[in-house]
Amino acid sequence: MTLPDTKFSQTESDSTTDLTSHVGNTPLLPLQRLGHGLSPRVKVFAKAEWFNPGGSVKDRPALNIIQTALANGDLGNGKRLLDSTSGNMGISYATFGAALGIPITLTIPSSASSERFSILRALGAELILTDPTEGSDGAILAARKLVKENPGLYWYANQYNNPANWQAHYETTGPEILSQTNGEVTHFVAGLGTSGTLTGAGKYLRQQILDINIIAFQPDAAFHGLEGLKHMPSAIQPGIYDPDFADEILEVRTEAAYEMARRLAREEGLFVGISSGAAAVAALRVASELEEGIVVTLFPDAGYKYLSDKSLWESPLHMGAPNGVLREGIG
Ligand code: PMP
Repeated sequence: MTLPDTKFSQTESDSTTDLTSHVGNTPLLPLQRLGHGLSPRVKVFAKAEWFNPGGSVKDRPALNIIQTALANGDLGNGKRLLDSTSGNMGISYATFGAALGIPITLTIPSSASSERFSILRALGAELILTDPTEGSDGAILAARKLVKENPGLYWYANQYNNPANWQAHYETTGPEILSQTNGEVTHFVAGLGTSGTLTGAGKYLRQQILDINIIAFQPDAAFHGLEGLKHMPSAIQPGIYDPDFADEILEVRTEAAYEMARRLAREEGLFVGISSGAAAVAALRVASELEEGIVVTLFPDAGYKYLSDKSLWESPLHMGAPNGVLREGIG
């Protein structure tokens, strides 16, 4: 069949590459309206990570972890990949597990959103639910116990300690940000989950741009609603996390992230998840203090997985400062 010569036609290589080759190279989108009120010489951009095939930033580390384990002979011969996850990493493992024929078992807090469970079950992952009051740490402890009891059955992917996690961001996210900003990024802002994004992309960018500012952000309390993010002082510290790596660590309130997620949807047309709301809060806080600069963050996933949280999407916007920067909730 000859494809018509329109902008919709695919090149031969596009049409024949498999799912795994479409991870990364996500768009870098400018914030158009939420940045009003900033100095005109300051721009804020976000990597649209929901463009990945599994719907989130976690496709990058999941694929690298699986490919590294296959190359090392840790996976294959029916061995099950086992890991703990708050949802997105599990969806990425399940996506590529299905595509590459690798069985997946996940320990996950039973409080994760119902959409996440539906997606994971649709993709055929085996799920082991853990105590919601123990959060992501409970899922980590359950995975450690399972692999200890059944070492022959499982290969423990261990996203919190596996260097293939941050290396994925060192090899893809960092170089993409450098080239998409023509090397002009001045501030990189990333949330802390496993810390793979911050550590990998941050390390690469710091090697390329010596005076770049690397800013991490985390929830402001042990109990929070920022799915996918960790409050490091009260959580099990990931082995790949270096608390001294970032130049600064900001704290974001759950309510501020929720409000910002609504604003991103209504004022930018960006229907993104809660941690993206938190990323925008942190990035705009950094940007509001600059006279000049290019601030880059990531929007890890889209809003679809959070639809069952009606209070998140259906609350009215609070009226605040018109520039969207000096609002209550951003500081
Ligand atoms: N946001 C969401 C929605 C996530 O699922 C994750 C990963 N847990 C993060 C942010 C943080 O990414 P990282 O693990 O690379 O720190």
